[in-house]
Amino acid sequence: MTELKTKCLIIGSGPAGYTAAIYTSRANLNPIMYEGYQPGGQLTTTTEVENFPGYPEGITGPQLMDDLRAQALRFGTDIRSGIISEVNFDVHPLEAIADDGTRIIADTVIISTGATAKYLGLPDEQEFNGRGVSACATCDGFFYRKKRVAVVGGGDTACEEALYLSNLAAEVFMIVRKDHLRASKVMQRRVLDKSNIKVLFNTNTKGLYGDEVLEGAHLIEHMGTDRQREYDLPVDGFFLAIGHQPNTEVFSRFVKLDDTGYIKTEPDTTMTNIPGVFAAGDVADHRYRQAITAAGSGCKAALDAERYITEQE
Ligand code: NDP
Repeated sequence: MTELKTKCLIIGSGPAGYTAAIYTSRANLNPIMYEGYQPGGQLTTTTEVENFPGYPEGITGPQLMDDLRAQALRFGTDIRSGIISEVNFDVHPLEAIADDGTRIIADTVIISTGATAKYLGLPDEQEFNGRGVSACATCDGFFYRKKRVAVVGGGDTACEEALYLSNLAAEVFMIVRKDHLRASKVMQRRVLDKSNIKVLFNTNTKGLYGDEVLEGAHLIEHMGTDRQREYDLPVDGFFLAIGHQPNTEVFSRFVKLDDTGYIKTEPDTTMTNIPGVFAAGDVADHRYRQAITAAGSGCKAALDAERYITEQE
């Protein structure tokens, strides 16, 4: 079995991971990064990124990730493909096993494995992904100015996305499977008070349609009852907001998680409950979930790791 030793192991490669790699490399921590199955993370599935500072004309998600990766490589990050499938944080130095069997002994670990947006599981979602279907209103809402969009879900995220979109789109339809919203009262009120948001209660999505780009959704109202009614809702954008799944399963035996599975960090730091283990990006953030906030927390994690190593020495 191959064994590697490093001062810093970075697990996951979105904006948080690459930024942590740039900082830890420049601080001579000789980091090893495991990129995961989707190098670059969620941003590689978006098209234009127009809100990452420094790109006045915008940049595509994949290009932004390629640039961050190249910057990390320039300073010597050892970037490896594959995932970390097992960790042992009961020992110091910390241990991790990659899916190819490589064992990594690390003084510090930065977890930046991100979160995965949940999809309904309709085959059409993949077909129209990036051509009408999105799981991020802040990323893609701008392309739907003065158009009609739908948001699926009835939680706080769905309400936030619907409110955000209501300031851009002409009309927003919220597709809610129950007869009530799950979101907090204040968010519910804001949504219900907004004149261009229409909430479609007791409604499920059966499929999507369109020629090349999305043109609408096939909906079912009161599914499985004698009031069942099927109809088509013409929309240009279809936003999934049924929750995110933080990618924390591998660490859950060691690292403290909140009720929804996100890693808990000490206030104003990236420190987890395990000395030497830090968390950055969406894996520890259900609130902001932006590329720039993830990059910022990757920087913080690198500085926290560097400080930890100095203190240990
Ligand atoms: P939630 O799990 O709270 O809500 C998910 C919503 O999607 C629910 O309405 C659920 O319906 C619906 N849903 C789930 N699966 C399906 C499906 N297959 N088909 C149709 N609808 C489905 O997720 P959120 O992302 O909204 O929130 C996660 C956590 O983050 C919550 O604790 C929330 O309060 C918090 N949050 C806080 C914010 C803030 O404080 N500003 C902002 C955003 C999130 P149903 O109700 O029927 O189960």
